[in-house]
Amino acid sequence: MGNKQFKAESKRLLNLMINSIYTNKEIFLRELISNASDAIDKLHYRSLTDKNIKLDKNDFKIKIDINKDDKTLTITDNGCGMTEEELDKNLGTIARSGSLAFKEENEKKKDIDIIGQFGVGFYSSFMVSDLVTVESKSVDSEKAYKWTSKGIDGYSIEECEKSDVGTKIILHIKDDTEEEKYSEFLDIYRIQQIIKTYSDYIRYPIQMDIERSEKKEGTEKEYETIKETKTINSMTPIWKKNKKTIKDEEYESFYMDKFHDYDKPLKVIHNHVEGQYNYDSLIYIPSHMPYDYYTKDYEKGLQLYSNGVLIMEKCDELIPDYFGFVKGLVDSEDLSLNISREMLQNDRSLRVISKNIENKIKTELENMLKNERDKYDQFFNIFGTQLKYGTYNDYGMNKEKLQDLLLFYSSTEKKLVTLKEYVEKMKEEQKVIYYACGETIDKIDMMPQVELLKDKGFEILYLTENIDEFVSQILVNYQEKTFQNVSSDKLDLDTSEEKEKLKKANEDNKEMFNVMKDVIKNEVQDIRFTHRLKNHPVCLTSEGAISVEMEKTLNQMPNNQGVKAQTVLEINENHEIANKLKDLYKNDKEMLKKYTKILYARGKTYRGIDN
Ligand code: ADP
Repeated sequence: MGNKQFKAESKRLLNLMINSIYTNKEIFLRELISNASDAIDKLHYRSLTDKNIKLDKNDFKIKIDINKDDKTLTITDNGCGMTEEELDKNLGTIARSGSLAFKEENEKKKDIDIIGQFGVGFYSSFMVSDLVTVESKSVDSEKAYKWTSKGIDGYSIEECEKSDVGTKIILHIKDDTEEEKYSEFLDIYRIQQIIKTYSDYIRYPIQMDIERSEKKEGTEKEYETIKETKTINSMTPIWKKNKKTIKDEEYESFYMDKFHDYDKPLKVIHNHVEGQYNYDSLIYIPSHMPYDYYTKDYEKGLQLYSNGVLIMEKCDELIPDYFGFVKGLVDSEDLSLNISREMLQNDRSLRVISKNIENKIKTELENMLKNERDKYDQFFNIFGTQLKYGTYNDYGMNKEKLQDLLLFYSSTEKKLVTLKEYVEKMKEEQKVIYYACGETIDKIDMMPQVELLKDKGFEILYLTENIDEFVSQILVNYQEKTFQNVSSDKLDLDTSEEKEKLKKANEDNKEMFNVMKDVIKNEVQDIRFTHRLKNHPVCLTSEGAISVEMEKTLNQMPNNQGVKAQTVLEINENHEIANKLKDLYKNDKEMLKKYTKILYARGKTYRGIDN
């Protein structure tokens, strides 16, 4: 048969491959091995239904040979093979090229995306070779045929000698150029490494002939070269194994090896799911923050496998942002090997799987919280901030999902507690969830506003992270209990009788407060008496939605709006300072002004936060 032309779209794909600047050219081997594996699958399936086909499934294998002299890399399988027509149809027109939906503007970057994401199949061999020969004998044909192509100019098919059913693909590897070292694909160790990386879990053995030297028996220094055939892939992926048979160490070493971590994971979540969609997932919670987590380079996501074949290194869609720190993989037979990123976003099975995975991680964390509290505390100390951001982000869209996973330090328990635990222990007369903000637990503990509440036996949550108060604001309430900052002017502990008394005291001393306000009018909105303090003379509180702590955080953010908390200087009406001030107002207004400054400074130091 003479020279044949490729179909237009195939030509285009081929051209893309030949001139590819794609950096992971090694994926061509993954493509050819997975085709080989599919072909064996097909023959295997045929043998189950067709009595005439007799074979021993233990013979199934994929063989890789390197010939450095000829500069060839050969991939041989004993799968179903191709007839003359099939060679012409399958390799002359790549079915998939139609679905590639090439964009007319032929940007290089888009091409690279296509190669990286689609897999691109058989033609990817042209990324590394200048001549490709496919010798194949179909299970349905007596004769064998050879397909040859140097690329864009077309291909030819002729009869050839081949005794066994199956396909042999011979790649003539390109010469090295200044930019590309193609000869790496003739290196036995490199090829083994590529197989290990991309095709470790192919169900059939991928074999290579390996030479090694061994000391000759009965000699001191004489060595002989031993040739042996070695299976490179492990064939059964750990995630396909029965959970009960897997030891902790096996999970751990797989994790450390695969996800390049020197530390063991904190938690392993292995799941085998059958149902609407079938998949296996193996997810790890690391025992520390990924070192590049806060950099632009960090990409969340899980490895995605289609029936044991790696199709995507980081599938972002599988993991919500707030669980972005987990590592792991998903293997599903319901996903096509050639799924693209755009297709993934609309892929129903993937959406369902991702929802399931999210729920699974959440359930596992809930169980850890319930049954392994120390471990959960450890987890929360590492990743708690992430969950808080998850609660706050997207306008609190996920707050219901995450609120029960949050922990806050409790004034009475002196450890981290959940909101549920807090609410369960609330006193009968207590209507709100009290919280106080500050830089450290110790500083909050010394706040004047905290003292009286503690004295009355209320539990207070101490919020020490910037994000904390934003979380409490987005939650608004938990089990219908509102969050209440102890430093807010809304805090209301007095009886109505006391309130009247306080109101009167404030009205009676209005003039005095005006004199005082004049001194610190840039710093505070108002000055007034309070009954919320026990031993302390003064405290600073805030009116409105923005607390002093939030003001600080917001103003640290890029392009801040210069928001200001409305600060109030509150003076303990039951403290001797109250009478002192009244006295000074009558007799020494200059001294009153000095006192005002001192009291304001005092209020600031008590605030649990320095600014
Ligand atoms: P895909 O595998 O996605 O269909 P490819 O370009 O990789 O696309 O291969 C095109 C077709 O060629 C395959 O669908 C298959 O029918 C056939 N083919 C490729 N490699 C082999 C092989 N080793 N044995 C039998 N058929 C093969």
